Amino acid sequence: MTDTPAAPTRYPNLFRPLTIGGITLPNRSVMGSMHTGLEDRLKHADELGEFYAERARGGVGLIITGGITPIRSGDLMPMGARMATPLSVFHHRKVTDAVHEAGGLIAMQILHAGRYGVTPFKAAPGSAPSPIHPFKHMRMTESMIRRTIRAFGRAARLARRAGYDAVEIMGGEGYLINQFLCAHTNDRTDRWGGSTANRQRFLIEVIDEIRRQVPREFPVILRQSVADFVQNGQTFEEIALMARRAERHGVDAINTDIGWHEARVPTIVTSVPRGAFVKFTERLRDEVSIPLIASNRINTPEVAEDILTHRRVDAVSMARPFLADADFMVKAAAGRAEEINTCIGCNQACLDHIFVGKKVSCLVNPRAGRETRLVLSPTRAAKKVAVIGAGPAGLSAAVASAEKGHKVTLFESRDHVGGQFAIAARIPGKEEFHESIRYFRTQLAVKGVDVRLNTRASVEDLKEFDHVILATGVTPRVPAIDGVDHPSVMTYAEAVRGEREIGHRVAVLGAGGIGFDVSEFLTTPTGADSPSLNLKEWEQEWGVTEDLETPGFLTTPRPDAPLREVYMIQRKASRQGKSLGKTSGWVHRAAVKGKKVEQISGATYEKIDDDGLHLAFYEEDDKTGEKTLKDRRVIAVDSIVLCTGQESVKDLVGPLEAAGISFDIVGGADLAAELDAKRAIRQGTEAAAKIA
Ligand code: NAP
Ligand code: SF4
Repeated sequence: MTDTPAAPTRYPNLFRPLTIGGITLPNRSVMGSMHTGLEDRLKHADELGEFYAERARGGVGLIITGGITPIRSGDLMPMGARMATPLSVFHHRKVTDAVHEAGGLIAMQILHAGRYGVTPFKAAPGSAPSPIHPFKHMRMTESMIRRTIRAFGRAARLARRAGYDAVEIMGGEGYLINQFLCAHTNDRTDRWGGSTANRQRFLIEVIDEIRRQVPREFPVILRQSVADFVQNGQTFEEIALMARRAERHGVDAINTDIGWHEARVPTIVTSVPRGAFVKFTERLRDEVSIPLIASNRINTPEVAEDILTHRRVDAVSMARPFLADADFMVKAAAGRAEEINTCIGCNQACLDHIFVGKKVSCLVNPRAGRETRLVLSPTRAAKKVAVIGAGPAGLSAAVASAEKGHKVTLFESRDHVGGQFAIAARIPGKEEFHESIRYFRTQLAVKGVDVRLNTRASVEDLKEFDHVILATGVTPRVPAIDGVDHPSVMTYAEAVRGEREIGHRVAVLGAGGIGFDVSEFLTTPTGADSPSLNLKEWEQEWGVTEDLETPGFLTTPRPDAPLREVYMIQRKASRQGKSLGKTSGWVHRAAVKGKKVEQISGATYEKIDDDGLHLAFYEEDDKTGEKTLKDRRVIAVDSIVLCTGQESVKDLVGPLEAAGISFDIVGGADLAAELDAKRAIRQGTEAAAKIA
């Protein structure tokens, strides 16, 4: 591992060593378990090894692998990663060797998916099917339960043989063990269900079996759910009892876990306040003496240090922040926290990928998961590179080009950098986007990029450069609606930047990602008053209670009254919000519902005038395609905000071609139809990687 000062003054508690069983972590950071999509095939073992090795060199205290199942009935997906035979040991050796050579420590997480498996062979304790996964599961028989317990022990033994420094038992997130623990999913009437002791029996026997198969000094960590956020979830008394019993039976640390996958309380998306759930971890402090690890929405060294200083926990688990920046800890140690590429909780390239079977990467760090393929090797002949536009695509292109050693000039017509990110950061719940802008701004300075704000580059300006990267972005689309030039109409960019006065009754035209964002912006307090920055308001909005006796800690959601009366409208007849992210879309849909936004689909925009927005509704004959008018409606609104997509800005393409200047085009300027920050940042980095 790269040398880190023993106790840097800014984060003295984060950089204190921590002993868990027979190992000592050099600091109090744990890279939490996250499936990367590289675990499942032997051919990806080297890539996975390099992925973790880069994080080990970056100084993380302990890495925990993505979930590895102990037995076929526990697979997350068909042929998913399993630790059940000596052949698996060979596969995993490549990973543990890579991490150890990099000076790191790595634990293997043993996960049985139970009814959350996406396979037809899955088994679970109860009878109710998973509400979020396909396939019916088998109800476990006594002998299946026994076999599964033995499989957990075998997986731990093999993990040790494969060189892992510890194992973690996945006991949360609604997976098998959690399914045994909660009446929500455990309707058994035998010795594995019913009373609390019976529901806890499976986990206790798993711990005992693992302890039988590995020596006492080999660390066993329990990922324990401390708030299920489902009906009939565990009460605090049950959680505390489980923690005490786990310690007595030989668990060396508890890594706390929040919320089931099917929970309707967001637990990791960007709008969740930072460190929102530490209090659930802290409550176990009086119950056990083994280390307690807090998790969820901890994404900067400041937040980590604050938690370790003021809250009664021993370490912090961060999974996605180490995807966003492998060097998180070395940068923090060296007093360079401003240079950390912060995870913004968007889920777009990590969890959204996992749920559609794609390999994990990171929106703000496209090299994550592509460590061996997207390499910014230093140039031998520095070139003069011009980047036009300082949105996400241009910023990543400029920073990556400079990292390779090129001499970079960044032109931006506005007086600030950030582009669409600067707009997104003003949406309540998206404040984290400020961190990306801070990261890029710092990198521009550190890497010596010549930034020219308020400057619209002309072809004449660009003739002196060896290569140009066009990242001129997009402009909001103004649809051809009669009266669209009425004074009540504005673009989303004007509305969100505060350039126009917005009335009380507002129509939002377009129900894509930006229509949803703008609807939230119009109905919810922004800036310092955003619920994402105020835990009590956020808990009230989502129905989280601290009451120790409430099972699952769920109560009735009570969002504050909306600030405005909003109508969100689209032309398609389909349900709104279908295009939103797989793991975050439901949060946005629930948020606008909570704010009583009236959603209107299948509308035709007839005209806009002093009376408001005139809509017509037609019915189409399936056979002839003929349309019949069914209804008309005038919505008397004070303001109309256009969220009707974007057009690429490509003014420079023709002149650059005519002048024979070599250029690449990236981000929204390349393709506005699928405006996407993930693609923009990746394209910017790839364009830079190509410049020799
Ligand atoms: P979008 O998702 O393509 O939505 C554009 C909306 O405008 C659609 O509702 C479309 O619906 C409507 N529209 C398109 N052309 C129109 C026209 N000529 N006249 C009237 N209406 C028209 O684009 P976006 O909302 O601008 O978002 C841009 C990108 O950023 C998307 O890729 C989006 O996923 C992403 N984003 C995501 C999030 C998120 O997940 N939370 C947030 C912000 C942005 P109809 O054609 O049915 O009317
Ligand atoms: Fe974080 Fe988004 Fe990157 Fe995932 S994709 S690690 S949530 S910044």
